[in-house]
Amino acid sequence: ALHNKIEDMKGRIRVYVRIRPMSNSEVAKSCQDVCKNEGKKTCVILPDKENEKDAKSWDFDSVFAGTTDAGNTQENVFKDTQQLIQSTIDGFNVCVFAYGQTGSGKTFTMFGAGGVGGGIDADGKVDSLTGLAPRSAAELFRVLGEKEASSNIEVSATMFELYNDKLVDLLAPKGSDEKLEIKLAEHSSTGMVEVKNSVEEIVPDINGLLDLFKRGAESRTVASTQMNADSSRSHLITMIVTKVTNKRTGNTIAGKLTLVDLAGSERVGKSGAEGAQLKEAQSINKSLSALGDVISALTTGHKHIPYRNSPLTMLMSDSIGGNAKTLMFVCCSPADYNRSESANSLDFAQRCK
Ligand code: ADP
Ligand code: MG
Repeated sequence: ALHNKIEDMKGRIRVYVRIRPMSNSEVAKSCQDVCKNEGKKTCVILPDKENEKDAKSWDFDSVFAGTTDAGNTQENVFKDTQQLIQSTIDGFNVCVFAYGQTGSGKTFTMFGAGGVGGGIDADGKVDSLTGLAPRSAAELFRVLGEKEASSNIEVSATMFELYNDKLVDLLAPKGSDEKLEIKLAEHSSTGMVEVKNSVEEIVPDINGLLDLFKRGAESRTVASTQMNADSSRSHLITMIVTKVTNKRTGNTIAGKLTLVDLAGSERVGKSGAEGAQLKEAQSINKSLSALGDVISALTTGHKHIPYRNSPLTMLMSDSIGGNAKTLMFVCCSPADYNRSESANSLDFAQRCK
């Protein structure tokens, strides 16, 4: 059934909501639990009587909410995603991205409690806090391992940060100032989006890929510090390309898995922000709006899809729409003080269905 579920994903965007549990400090402050699930597919925000706001509800493909006891586990989330790894190996372009305000659980979902580059041991053994990227890495090499006898396998990866519309190659050697250029699929030799002058590393095994995540995370920290920016203000984009060449026929099947941990979607207070902070907020807003516009154009069947409006949508262009399979995680905080940001995120996701 799962296979069929993901099989009909082609050309449409699947939306999973994930509402993290209340944090200890939120519990200590007696925050109210206002954003929750109703069954497996409905998400509700309770009314705010003081400000005369009614209850609101949204339907999605799946809603994960509450504590691990309620089934909101990394394992369950991955179980409903796992088939996409098989699809990648089968030659599809797959994109999984996480949207939501800062602190809502995007990085926890995409990478795990250890952040980018953490949460898995050297043998690829996962624990209960391991997120989607390391789990996907393990699954990728597990499935590819089954093909080793009959095929030549190649896995390569690139990793980028996009901050203020500036693309940073996280795998480039220190001090390198290569000029990066995004090439859309129709202009590249591989038929996939490529970033000219970026470092594309061949990874021989799971450890190679996990190590690459770790190095990417480290150079992101360095880059953020140099730019005086918080990592929540930049998009993190990881692209993994698999090539399976049949030894007998020489036929190659290439697929791509793009993982995106988006910058925080929160609206920065109009009055407070100025200078660098305002520029940051405008850039994030512009790129997330561009993403929303691309998805809207796809879901309403437009002929022209405005991929070129932002470097973010250019990078994602081969993995959203067309033959690609796309999964969006909308991450939400359950707490009352985040009510309007959660509602904004769920409204955004509603447009994406
Ligand atoms: P974001 O990347 O959206 O800014 P994080 O992923 O860093 O948010 O999550 C914020 C905090 O909440 C982190 O301490 C993280 O470990 C915790 N957290 C997020 N989602 C969950 C979850 N589903 N279960 C338990 N803790 C979570
Ligand atoms: Mg984060």
